Amino acid sequence: MKSSELYNIAKQVIPGGVSSPVRAIQPYPFYVTSGHGPRLTTVDDADLIDCCCAYGPLILGHAHPVIKEAIIGQLSDGWLYGTPAPAEITLAEQVIRDHPSIEMVRFVSSGSEATMAALRLARGFTGRTDIIKIEGGFHGAHDAVLVQAGSGCTTLGQPDSAGVPADLVKHTRQIPYNDIESLTSLLEKDSSSIAALIMEPVLGNIGPILPEKGYLEEVRSVTAEHDVLLIFDEVITGYRLGIGGAQQYFGIRPDLTTLGKILGGGLPIGAFGGRKDIMSMIAPAGPVYQAGTFSGNPLSLTAGIATLEWIHKHPEMYGDLESKTKIIEDACTGKGGSFVRIGSMFKYYFRNQPPRNYREAKEADTTAFRSFWEKMLKARIFLPPSQFETNFISVAHSEREIEAISQAYKACI
Ligand SMILES: *Cc1c(COP(=O)(O)O)cnc(C)c1O
Repeated sequence: MKSSELYNIAKQVIPGGVSSPVRAIQPYPFYVTSGHGPRLTTVDDADLIDCCCAYGPLILGHAHPVIKEAIIGQLSDGWLYGTPAPAEITLAEQVIRDHPSIEMVRFVSSGSEATMAALRLARGFTGRTDIIKIEGGFHGAHDAVLVQAGSGCTTLGQPDSAGVPADLVKHTRQIPYNDIESLTSLLEKDSSSIAALIMEPVLGNIGPILPEKGYLEEVRSVTAEHDVLLIFDEVITGYRLGIGGAQQYFGIRPDLTTLGKILGGGLPIGAFGGRKDIMSMIAPAGPVYQAGTFSGNPLSLTAGIATLEWIHKHPEMYGDLESKTKIIEDACTGKGGSFVRIGSMFKYYFRNQPPRNYREAKEADTTAFRSFWEKMLKARIFLPPSQFETNFISVAHSEREIEAISQAYKACI
């Protein structure tokens, strides 16, 4: 069956025809039968170069043979025990070695779960009710963080989804990215009610949008001054910007960190970790409840351990990924828009200057993006179908694919 036919059936049985909204490409999404290395094959027999990489997790590409072997090896021993397994200690120790700010870590099954638990923990630890998030920052699909950007830094939050009580999100304050004054004045006024600032150190879900020089350092020092916990949501940037994520890249020590995506090697995972005094508040060690049937399942742990082992054996991969991304950038010079990249995260914005925050990102010409995106797909390059989703490449993208991507950018912008 062709993608268009499958989508018509899917729409009858799944809301919007998809399991996650961004996938509902119009007029219909393409259905995939296999992924190998940097490529996807569709039911319509198209062979696409994938610059979405499942929105970040697949830094080693699709069906990486080493990860596949590890998963198969675990499968023969079962895939869910409901009791501790040695693998969770192995992965915990690795995460702790890789992140000096993380002294203890708890595994969950998704990034959303990780941020939800980290925020509860911050509230439990500080005894304060409010949190701050950055406009345009994405931390998963739970109530407290589904607050539309655009409101001023001191106005109360507006829910971004039906079904989220306004009463609840009024405890979520918002400030613009790259704007230390907004943060400082909010904290000077209200810090006694604010438990934490949660932020993506590099905005990855409308971008990337990069931090200006000194911004993250100032965020760290002003939050510390007011005893407000700093939570780095590194679900995208963890193991993407380097082995120690954005906190290593920028030299910042957050109080808590959330991880996901790459950490599971392509299987579902999330994790939150940080200072021991804070993490010790988590049940059963402490009074902040958190639990999950699939938490620390041996299959996700095994895929994660194999991925981190591979990365540690090939640390040069980060430099290689960065050079490859630079080649794509060079192909876009003189095109009028702006190419933003950090490591192997990149985006071509249809806006003449790189955006500094959510408001500026929204000025991008989404109609131009849409027609560019369609041309790219015709050229057999799959980019995330939104001006506001980061593109990724993997270690499986060879020079041949990078050349094809670069040529396509040149031709399609
Ligand atoms: C993807 C993402 C999440 C949510 O992770 P899920 O595994 O989809 O629940 C949270 N924070 C950031 C920064 C993300 O990119």
